[in-house]
Amino acid sequence: MTSAPKPTPHNATTRRIAHLDMDAFFASVELLRYPQLKGLPVVIGGGRNAQPQPLDDLPIDKLPLSQFARLRHYTGRGVITTATYAARAFGIGSAMGMMKAAALCPDAYLLPADFERYRDYSRRFKAIILGIAPIMENRGIDEVYIDLTDVPGGQREGGRVIARLIQKQIFLETGLTCSIGVAPNKLLAKMASELDKPNGVTVLFEADVQQRIWPLPCKTMNGIGPKSSEKLRNLGLHTLGDIAACEPHWLIEHFGNSYGAWLHAASHGTDERPVVTHSEPVSISRETTFERNLHAKRDKAQLGEVFTQLCERLASDLRHKGYQARTVGIKLRDDTFQTTTRDISLPAPVADAKAIRQAAGIALKRAPLERPLRLLGVKLSRLVKPGQAQDDTASAQNLDLFTDTQQPI
Ligand SMILES: [Mg+2]
Repeated sequence: MTSAPKPTPHNATTRRIAHLDMDAFFASVELLRYPQLKGLPVVIGGGRNAQPQPLDDLPIDKLPLSQFARLRHYTGRGVITTATYAARAFGIGSAMGMMKAAALCPDAYLLPADFERYRDYSRRFKAIILGIAPIMENRGIDEVYIDLTDVPGGQREGGRVIARLIQKQIFLETGLTCSIGVAPNKLLAKMASELDKPNGVTVLFEADVQQRIWPLPCKTMNGIGPKSSEKLRNLGLHTLGDIAACEPHWLIEHFGNSYGAWLHAASHGTDERPVVTHSEPVSISRETTFERNLHAKRDKAQLGEVFTQLCERLASDLRHKGYQARTVGIKLRDDTFQTTTRDISLPAPVADAKAIRQAAGIALKRAPLERPLRLLGVKLSRLVKPGQAQDDTASAQNLDLFTDTQQPI
């Protein structure tokens, strides 16, 4: 006689985490007001002169295509923020220089970015999700994690039923599509949301890791950047399965204690991070790519003006969010694309433009300024709420008045 298998309690819940990513978000929002561009290659990221030309009294959704800017006429150093799927078919992608994209698809239509509008749609789709599943972690303007574990119906078909409901509701109320991955944790959910884009739902279970995750290239995992992925490749590891097959101590030997251990766990699909509903910003930054290279000496006045503006905008960002900053940093990129950062840790937090400018100025003086610059950025980190600043002062005793670190980019 064989003993009967232990029954699984019918009310058992397993962790079900969704990652939702809006499909070509900025571009899709633009297509809502310019439906005549649907199905065509469109990129977002032009300046004001990429605004479609109005015609007589025609409403904007009736403007003929001739009134829209084309990528081929673009000159400058702008970078694409989003491309429609039709544009991606030409090899165009986010963060690509506009001139490079113009070479790939000169006929693509170009629109300026309208962040105000994207933020508005972002608030709307997130409010729809919260109405269905209240445990949501903001991951930026167009993506969130959602904990479906205890949502009524959240376990049905491993989360697929709720995911489809969220997708449908967002589409009905905004006209926008998204892709959702549901998995036992954030790490796998994030990968799953990429597996069936656009407008897909992918459900993964622990048991699927071997079949669905291991064949993927290392770099598809969030947390394995270009540098690590190159190092892995040099060690003969090309897929996540290759990493999973390594002994943990071997990974630690090559990648250090924490990253080596993480690689082992992540390649086996393990990730315990909770879905965090209230996140504090880690840093706030602003940067500008110049229309022509500027030299620290020869273009001192112009550079100084941009620098001050960046600091003023950051001060206003801080004010809006109610934070102060303990670290002020600068980022430079020179004409050879060499990027340098310098950080200044301050004994007391700063919030106003003048104090930020002063600290950033000190950081800038420590950077190499011989070569012409193409980009200047200012970053505020170690953010604190004014009330918290007090507690921090005690630990600040260990800090030198100013510390200077150079971080690899
Ligand atoms: Mg997206």
